[in-house]
Amino acid sequence: MQTIRGFRDILPEQIRLWQKVENLAVELFNAYGYQEIRIPILEKTGLFARSIGETTDIVEKEMYTFDDRNGDKLTLRPEATASICRAYIQHKLYATEPVRKFYMTGPMFRRERPQKGRYRQFYQIDAEVFGVDSAYVDCELIFLLHQLFKRLGLTGLTAQINSLGCPECRPKFTRALLDFLEERKQDLCEICTRRMTRNPLRVLDCKIQTCQAALIGAPATVDHLCPACEDHFNIVKTTLEKQGVDFSVNNSLVRGLDYYTRTAWEIQTTSLGAQSAVAGGGRYDGLVKQLGGPDTPAIGFAIGFDRLVEIMEQLTPMPADPGADLFIVALGDAAMETAYHLSCDLNQAGIKTDTDFRGKSLKALMKRADKLNARYVLIAGQTELNDNALILRNMKTKEQVSISMDRLVPEIEAVLKHK
Ligand code: ATP
Ligand code: MG
Repeated sequence: MQTIRGFRDILPEQIRLWQKVENLAVELFNAYGYQEIRIPILEKTGLFARSIGETTDIVEKEMYTFDDRNGDKLTLRPEATASICRAYIQHKLYATEPVRKFYMTGPMFRRERPQKGRYRQFYQIDAEVFGVDSAYVDCELIFLLHQLFKRLGLTGLTAQINSLGCPECRPKFTRALLDFLEERKQDLCEICTRRMTRNPLRVLDCKIQTCQAALIGAPATVDHLCPACEDHFNIVKTTLEKQGVDFSVNNSLVRGLDYYTRTAWEIQTTSLGAQSAVAGGGRYDGLVKQLGGPDTPAIGFAIGFDRLVEIMEQLTPMPADPGADLFIVALGDAAMETAYHLSCDLNQAGIKTDTDFRGKSLKALMKRADKLNARYVLIAGQTELNDNALILRNMKTKEQVSISMDRLVPEIEAVLKHK
């Protein structure tokens, strides 16, 4: 039996980088006042269709959707924002606090063509802020991402930012874009000609070479912003500049989801061969209302966890396995019984203790202790049991001390915590 295409196991041998990233992310989220939220993996299909947008790649062709036994249409979540908005509205999370900041980590599902850094089950680290329209929140999120990547030792990253405007200025831009697209209609792909009428902004995001070529000279959203959006975007740019965040304004960055307004960004890297985004985010001031909640400005980002780990694998060696504190070499049945109880007691006391019940020889067990990178070995042979004292050996200094059986846990604790 094998995993299905685009799905994979993440094995203990690979997990330490994942943990390193997640621990640091959680540390930063805590420092910035974000609370963890956990959402279901399965939602009603309508939630994603209504939020992400019917004409987006995700909804058109990437979702895992199926009919439940009662006929409900369900979808494995392709992203987190829609579900977090649903939770925000469902539980009236706005009622208790005017500003809410959430984070989550977990798997997402999109049926795309698998390749390096692209899977059908992949993981995201996600952050969302509800209730503030100030540009400083946009900066905070971009800065937080920047800090996280910097602390993880990543280099060669570029932040691309853009402003997509708001319902005030978007229609004017859309008209200018439509005029432009009409003239080049014959050069656009079939999907784009179809999208043109329903959601022309999406055409800017088309990855097809001929479309990209036809789009050269297309109007830019930033040239059509209303004064409020322009001020907002200016604050984002000047603040990021002051904070030393490397960024460039990318006029064709529209992001693949319909709900974005104002600031949108992507952190890109070339480390995985083709240029790919390791994180993306944006403001979605209209979405909560659109989904039936109160009019609430909101903004968030998602980090591609798999891609981030793959970049880190190239940059940094896998963090070393911390190894066991203590390995008990138990020789014979009586010693094994002692070793079993002792190792449970030590585990309880928070000491990482390992032993081996396969009845191996002293030599084999010492080898195993080495392999497990144990700092100490406790030798329990028949002689030691007869003497009612076991031998504790420091594997680095080779020093040995004899410890009386009835003082084992406190003595071992004292020695191990001392070092
Ligand atoms: P891309 O342009 O690479 O398809 P996207 O715009 O579809 O990315 P988002 O929806 O913004 O991606 O998700 C945020 C991040 O999640 C991306 O920047 C990327 O790192 C990661 N991601 C998206 N799809 C996948 C996937 N299929 N496998 C692994 N990571 C992914
Ligand atoms: Mg995509």
